[in-house]
Amino acid sequence: MTAPGPPDSPLSRRAARALRDEGDRRARTTDSTSFSPFVLPDDLVGADAAATSRARGATPAPGEADGPTRHARPRRIARVGVIAAVVAAGALLVGAAAAVTGMVSGAAPDDSAAAAAHVAAAPPPVSELPVPTVEQTPVSTDICADPAVIAALEASDDAGAIEAAGGAEWFRIAVAGGAAPCVDLTDPTRLWVVINKTLQFDPVDYWPADMMFPEGVRSLEGGSLRADASGALTAMVTGAREAGVGEIALLSGFRSFNSQMATYGRHVDARGVEGADLVSARPGYSEHQSGLSGDVVPCAGPCGTLDDLAGSAQGEWVEAHSWEYGWIVRYVDGATDVTGYLPEPWHLRYIGPELARAYHDGGWTSLEEFFGLPPAPAYVG
Ligand SMILES: [Zn+2]
Repeated sequence: MTAPGPPDSPLSRRAARALRDEGDRRARTTDSTSFSPFVLPDDLVGADAAATSRARGATPAPGEADGPTRHARPRRIARVGVIAAVVAAGALLVGAAAAVTGMVSGAAPDDSAAAAAHVAAAPPPVSELPVPTVEQTPVSTDICADPAVIAALEASDDAGAIEAAGGAEWFRIAVAGGAAPCVDLTDPTRLWVVINKTLQFDPVDYWPADMMFPEGVRSLEGGSLRADASGALTAMVTGAREAGVGEIALLSGFRSFNSQMATYGRHVDARGVEGADLVSARPGYSEHQSGLSGDVVPCAGPCGTLDDLAGSAQGEWVEAHSWEYGWIVRYVDGATDVTGYLPEPWHLRYIGPELARAYHDGGWTSLEEFFGLPPAPAYVG
């Protein structure tokens, strides 16, 4: 007799065997007047009893001599019914186990192929089922609900606000997720300010406070930086020298609205507006106006040009290590569609060591993507 249901399922076979035996037992002992799906008709009970008696060597009761033969078929049908019911129940159990396994393993419950594979295979013990793990995807929570964040912002303590938010990555997630309404990405006084072709300085002629010339750094055009960026550039240039890669100089640091007008104007004269926009910002849109950006060049005695940095030991070191000092290479290869600028390996932007580490660790290639902002490839209007 071939039992319906999953042929390779130990559970089904075991359950079928156990319940078939149970069916036999009940068929032999159940009061025929009681209702049960496993109760056999009286004649079958009699046939079964007669067969049992013969097996035990008992003398057949009168009138039952031909019973076993005559009633064999109905009895088998009844057994098939019992077994079918049992196997069906077993199959349901296996199916349920497969469905649970499917859900646990992440498979779609209605994936018939996957379900068939699970049914065909022996279901593992519950103790061996994979334990579902919740991916560590931080949920954006309003960091501005934390008084410590607000207090740090009011004290102009950017690093303190980031720390109070749970660190740079949590800060970034909150900002990118719209859960940081107190963090203004257009505030030019903040480390996290984003200046691009769609985000102009406000006020447009913004002028940073606390400007200074970086100590111990050759400044070729008299460039200055905001105090925190200035100290960080000194540290970076020192780090490069101590690493043995040579001298790094600051070619251009802060540029005011008016000086950027002159710079951009020269590029327009040389290559037209479209060409100029790929390599230079219009006044009011240049990161240099924040005091947080600097263009650096390699020096070996005399200093090279901006274009000399990429192929130099200093350039290689800057690309790998500038983040350790709070700097990022703002315009990298492959991000022109987002930033609107051709790659500028020499243009560094200071965002502080905490954010720079998160930027580096996350493999980000633009501040826009880092903070969940839309691309800014072109000026609006
Ligand atoms: Zn620059």
